[in-house]
Amino acid sequence: MWSGLRERIMQPIQDVFPLLSTPRKIFITTHHKPDGDAIGSMLALSHYLTKKGHHVTPVSPGEIPDFLAWMPGVATMLNYEAQPKESLEALANADLVFCVDFNDFNRTKHLEQALAAATQPKVLIDHHLFPKPVWDYGVSIPEKSSTCEMVYDFINLCGDNNLIDLDIATCLYTGVMTDTGSFKFPITSAAVHTMIADLMRHGLDHTRIHEEVYDSWSEGRMRFLGYVLIEKMEVFRKYNSALIALSRKDLNLFKAQNGDTEGLVNYPLSIAGIKFATLITERTDEVKLSFRSKGDFDVSSFAKNYFDGGGHFNASGGRTKTSFIDTIAYFKKILSDIHPL
Ligand code: 5GP
Ligand code: MN
Repeated sequence: MWSGLRERIMQPIQDVFPLLSTPRKIFITTHHKPDGDAIGSMLALSHYLTKKGHHVTPVSPGEIPDFLAWMPGVATMLNYEAQPKESLEALANADLVFCVDFNDFNRTKHLEQALAAATQPKVLIDHHLFPKPVWDYGVSIPEKSSTCEMVYDFINLCGDNNLIDLDIATCLYTGVMTDTGSFKFPITSAAVHTMIADLMRHGLDHTRIHEEVYDSWSEGRMRFLGYVLIEKMEVFRKYNSALIALSRKDLNLFKAQNGDTEGLVNYPLSIAGIKFATLITERTDEVKLSFRSKGDFDVSSFAKNYFDGGGHFNASGGRTKTSFIDTIAYFKKILSDIHPL
């Protein structure tokens, strides 16, 4: 099941089992600006390890988007930005640290230093390319659809399929659904569908999850999407590419909430012929870029080479410290220089 571990940069996750044979204090975290897979995998693992008798503290590095606020277990979670003292206490008191859905401590933003300094054994469960060699135990398989699929595999590897309950199934499904574009991306394997069938046998209510995540927009968010597509989307037919660039002013105009930009980057890919889509967002402390592709354009390398980022082959992100305007100009120059498609 874990044979995809290409480089033995950490001990296999099975080696952590002896550490879990007695009740432990466990700190779990995920990446900053968490998505469905980040929160889903963190909370699913938290529910599972709690059931096994451990004392678990899930900590998000920052605020979670509104479309995930309904998830079971959110109330047990700390937000590092809002509760730094409690979060650091939980880390200091932990016997073991689990990290899910990221491959470099810097993806946790303000938690980076504390994680790097923590001396407890650290365990990684993740599917991003090229994990940093900073974890003691773990599993990294880029071929996996989502970290939630890997948490499901982990539970099975522990022989605990019978412990999967509605909360665990709900969290796992949310992450697989959001990371696979509702089971549409090529990475959606037969194993994913088998897993979903199993979650259904454990009582999963998939319709409710789709509604919570995708059909619970505010009216403002829907109108913001209309504005973005009409006013802010540039299509570069020559490069089979499209760009959406949103300044602070654009975001303020519609009082865009945390999470309202989620998924915007995917829209241009619904235009016939468009194979590469980029979203540039002006944040207070940096300019953030999101990249998505269809087919064989590797946006992970693109993000790594030009925007200090990374991610997956067809979905990645990066950042610049230059201005919003300069970032747009730089991006367009790269497009014309390298003719990506
Ligand atoms: P998003 O566009 O949703 O922020 O990110 C897309 C994917 O790329 C996610 O899986 C995310 O974890 C990853 N990603 C985003 N930004 C970065 C980054 O700066 N570095 C790395 N290594 N991965 C990133
Ligand atoms: Mn993921």
